Amino acid sequence: MTARLLDGQAIAAEIRASALPGVQAFTARAGRPPGLGIVLVGDNPASEVYVRNKVKAGNDTGLWVDLQRLPATASLDDLLALVARLNASDRHDGILVQSPLPAAMGKGAAQRVFDAIDPDKDVDGFHPVNVGKLVQGRAHLKPCTPSGVIEILDRSGIAIAGRHAVVIGRSEIVGKPMAMLLLQRDATVTICHSKTPDLPGVAARADILIAAIGRPAFVGPSFVAPGATVIDVGTTPVSDRGVIERLYGAGSPRLAAFEKRGSLVVGDVHPKVADVAGALTPVPGGVGPLTIAMLLKNTLAAAEARAL
Ligand code: NAP
Repeated sequence: MTARLLDGQAIAAEIRASALPGVQAFTARAGRPPGLGIVLVGDNPASEVYVRNKVKAGNDTGLWVDLQRLPATASLDDLLALVARLNASDRHDGILVQSPLPAAMGKGAAQRVFDAIDPDKDVDGFHPVNVGKLVQGRAHLKPCTPSGVIEILDRSGIAIAGRHAVVIGRSEIVGKPMAMLLLQRDATVTICHSKTPDLPGVAARADILIAAIGRPAFVGPSFVAPGATVIDVGTTPVSDRGVIERLYGAGSPRLAAFEKRGSLVVGDVHPKVADVAGALTPVPGGVGPLTIAMLLKNTLAAAEARAL
């Protein structure tokens, strides 16, 4: 391996530590800590893990975190009623509804829920008002994962301005806002998706390649220019032992971790990319911790803005 590993855990710890004085000052001033409401519907195992990590990180940083659970059988109306209650609450400065919602809630349910969250409490940055402000370069609450990627690049000394950034994935929550944030930092940005012809060829022209697809190890060495920075946003649970052994090799620590747990979270980037890239985020321990750190930062920012 030749790529420099970009340590998301360490960068996230720095950001969380730098938020602490602000949280303490807010708590002293307001007589209560900044409050974050997290809504989890159903029992998706990956969501359970993400939410547990968000609750712990919030508590560790001095926030008041209120986890609200609804059963998988809850209706969209039940969820909208809960969001309305959190919107009206004085103690909740931020509201996050964990995706994905149960399929039974119907197509478009997530967007209806994001639309219903008070934009001032929208710590995920998914409300159309906040998306519009993001496009105009004046967002107060920016989506956590893409803004976390910018923090990784900045704090690792990787220049963005004037570089060619290629984003694979065009989702509302990662790909599109990622491209906007890179554009605002003066990168030349190409957005790719499932209909892009010659994807490896396009990706290989990137100085900064960002993979946000959700397909384990899809981005192989042929997608990467020698020395490029590669950011792996993908997190897909894999429960097929054969896949893990093929990717990481017999006797690898990753295979041992798989044997212990029966599944492993795998990124979009193939392990062999480490031989080509100049810098690379690992999975786990890359972008994921930043997503949480930026959520805490957004909650503090929302609390401070509401208190004005
Ligand atoms: P998504 O909504 O499913 O979007 C996936 C995107 O990838 C789509 O735009 C899709 O293109 C594109 N895509 C799929 N297959 C492709 C292919 N073969 N070639 C090129 N493009 C392809 O997913 P998402 O919510 O953006 O999440 C992406 C990944 O990031 C997932 O693994 C998710 O778990 C992970 N994630 C991680 C974090 C974190 O904190 N680390 C946070 C959020 C998401 P089309 O639009 O053409 O279908």
